[in-house]
Amino acid sequence: MDKLPLDTIEIDALEVFANHGVFPEETALGQKFLLSMTLYVDTSCAGFSDCLDDSIDYGAVAHFATDWTKSHPRKLLEAAAEDLATAILTHYPLLQGIRLHLGKPWAPVGLPLREVSVTIHRFWHTAYLGLGSNLGNRKQYLDDAVQALRNDVRCRVKAVSSYLETKPYGGVEQGDFLNACLCLDTLYTPGQLLTRLHAIEADAHRERQIHWGPRTLDLDILLYDDLVMDTQTLTIPHADMHNRTFVLVPLAEIAPYKRHPVLQKTMVQLLRTLQTVE
Ligand code: ATP
Ligand code: CA
Ligand code: CA
Repeated sequence: MDKLPLDTIEIDALEVFANHGVFPEETALGQKFLLSMTLYVDTSCAGFSDCLDDSIDYGAVAHFATDWTKSHPRKLLEAAAEDLATAILTHYPLLQGIRLHLGKPWAPVGLPLREVSVTIHRFWHTAYLGLGSNLGNRKQYLDDAVQALRNDVRCRVKAVSSYLETKPYGGVEQGDFLNACLCLDTLYTPGQLLTRLHAIEADAHRERQIHWGPRTLDLDILLYDDLVMDTQTLTIPHADMHNRTFVLVPLAEIAPYKRHPVLQKTMVQLLRTLQTVE
């Protein structure tokens, strides 16, 4: 998600009796929880139409959250908040993000306090991925990777480019590649997304032997919102994407006007620059 909507719908201090906790008295007897939520949703459509279908029904969300909180006991407030946020975000398509505050007014601390609580903020993010394969049934590997992402509740695949036959990159003697790009909305952080992509690569029996060598499946994170980050394990935007025709051609197909957050050029402009150099 590139921009947060400023509009919000609030649900404040919803009381739910449930069984989250570490101690047996908590899990067996249950206790009171207080749930507050800020729902980030563009309300302008409903504002103009005066039609509930164009917004999020806060009554339905309150009932959904109550039922979920009662029927999914967790040891930690952190886990209850995390999983409830995911459940709500994946259940309501118009919802772009949520602030969720889960409080335990009767927490067994043995001291007078008003409430202990956890507050989290979770949002849908937009990522662009590069896909490549040059071993075995290349099309099947790409198809399977797209399907694995479609099956993941924390991902919504928005667009998949055409598959492109390309010559290998990086000087290693090997077969031609089939490359593609896709756009997805995701609840994963960049690190979680990389872990998920590595798991999908492992399912395709990807082996890491030669750098830039032959592989059944390679999944790279190209862009993640307008994030710029550089750690030992993850560089976003992908460090070499602007030098690769096999990335920019499919990316320009599905996101021609998306701007590279560092180079400040659109995908079409980057592709043109590269083609002029070549
Ligand atoms: P390249 O990244 O130049 O396309 P590659 O895809 O062949 O090369 P891999 O062996 O698949 O390289 O990945 C090596 C490591 O690169 C990964 O384990 C990961 O930690 C790191 N990495 C850094 N930035 C990214 C990114 N944006 N997407 C995917 N992996 C990344
Ligand atoms: Ca790669
Ligand atoms: Ca890779």
